Amino acid sequence: QVCTARPRVLLLCSPCMGHLIPFVELARRLVFDHGLAATLLFASATSPPSEQYLAVNATVPDAIDVVALPAPPPDALPPSAPARERAQLAVVSNIPRVREMARALAAETPLAALVVDMVGTPARNVAADLGVPFYMFFTSPWMTMSLFLHLPEIDSRRAGEHRDATEPIRLPGCVPIHAHELPESMFADRSSSTYTGFLSMAKDATGVDGVLVNTFDALEPAVRDGMDGLDLPVHPVGPLVWTRPASVRVDRDHECMSWLDQQPRGSVVYVSFGSGGTLTWEQTAELALGLELSQYRFIWAVKRPHQSSTIGAFFGTKEGEHISLDFLPEGFIERTTGVGLVMLSWAPQTAILGHPSIGCFVTHCGWNSILESIMNGIPMVAWPLYAEQNMNAAMMEVQVGVAVRAKVGADRFIRKEEVANAIRRVMVAEEGERTRRRVSDLRDQSIHALSKDGSSTHVLTQIANTWKCASSK
Ligand code: UDP
Repeated sequence: QVCTARPRVLLLCSPCMGHLIPFVELARRLVFDHGLAATLLFASATSPPSEQYLAVNATVPDAIDVVALPAPPPDALPPSAPARERAQLAVVSNIPRVREMARALAAETPLAALVVDMVGTPARNVAADLGVPFYMFFTSPWMTMSLFLHLPEIDSRRAGEHRDATEPIRLPGCVPIHAHELPESMFADRSSSTYTGFLSMAKDATGVDGVLVNTFDALEPAVRDGMDGLDLPVHPVGPLVWTRPASVRVDRDHECMSWLDQQPRGSVVYVSFGSGGTLTWEQTAELALGLELSQYRFIWAVKRPHQSSTIGAFFGTKEGEHISLDFLPEGFIERTTGVGLVMLSWAPQTAILGHPSIGCFVTHCGWNSILESIMNGIPMVAWPLYAEQNMNAAMMEVQVGVAVRAKVGADRFIRKEEVANAIRRVMVAEEGERTRRRVSDLRDQSIHALSKDGSSTHVLTQIANTWKCASSK
């Protein structure tokens, strides 16, 4: 039974660019391909919303309503509060407003569903009050979702800290997860609020009507089997990455695009650590020297280093922060003129990855960055920093075969020789040839998954029809 009305899906996204970008894409697909209307609520962490939010918002088609919800007061949490707590507060403090908006929207058009990210489960009662399906859109890989859903069981079985475990965690169909690859919320003391908060979020996740996961069958075949022992429907709908309408000229007009036009095919290394990935001063300088040593052309979307972290971590850029290049080794910019381009602002990443001159992506392994690289057939050097990125890096190298991991020293430092070596392994060596072939196959499969007859389109069509039917009752 297919219904014809145009009911509205309400999406609620926590303050994280890595979530917002696939949420916009999901909304775009629901509206343009599946006959639904969409309103996307973004729980902003700052007031006014960040420059990155504005950059994403500028590319959202008019048919999708995007609303930035007011941020909590800046002093609501101590400066040391972890990013997850900030994200949760931004969502939870807005729930009464979300309820009000949902009621107002429901008075105009039938509501089809409420879709939240992993932080948004406290909005469950809003969906229950309105009698609409409550779904989670999980913007990281299935492997992370599987770990998340298995966590309560692992927690009850294990004694001691997860970081001290000698046996890896084995999830069905996934690469074994070694202690040093665990996300930091599991690496933390089990008595800490970082861990207990994560565990309670994991327990909460099972209370949704279904989970959409930003992955596809050919990339993570294990997603097909769903969750053993849990009655939780799982739907692979990806890869949903940032597509920008052709009318947005900013990307094409960016200075780096004309520079790329002048470089030979497949010759440039693109380096970026996502929306908030930051290295230490020493590691930033060492990376610069490694790029120089490799003798490859490069584009580096660089961030000002952060001193308070021994290894890489997530630090949002502060609005209006003065940025200069004083942290780069002396003479680096002069010596690499013409060979390299260093950019300090938000880079048009998907346009860069889609340019034929790009040959390799040095990435922090954020899931969006990985999907964008795969969709453009670009092999990767994996340099994970935080969240589930170590797991993503292991999966990409060991199981999927589209990346090589840069070797990290015992001091968690990556030396310039290793930077150059990892780049060479992807760009030229026999290993590089294999990696390029594999990523090119996977690009074709990702395009197929999203085509009219593809697996992910098929899955989203079924969900959209279920929502439409439920809302017409
Ligand atoms: N991004 C971008 N320009 C930048 C940095 C990031 O367009 O200068 C985009 C990138 O294309 C991706 C997202 O921001 O879509 C980053 O998400 P990811 O999951 O890779 O990492 P996160 O920022 O969440 O750590």
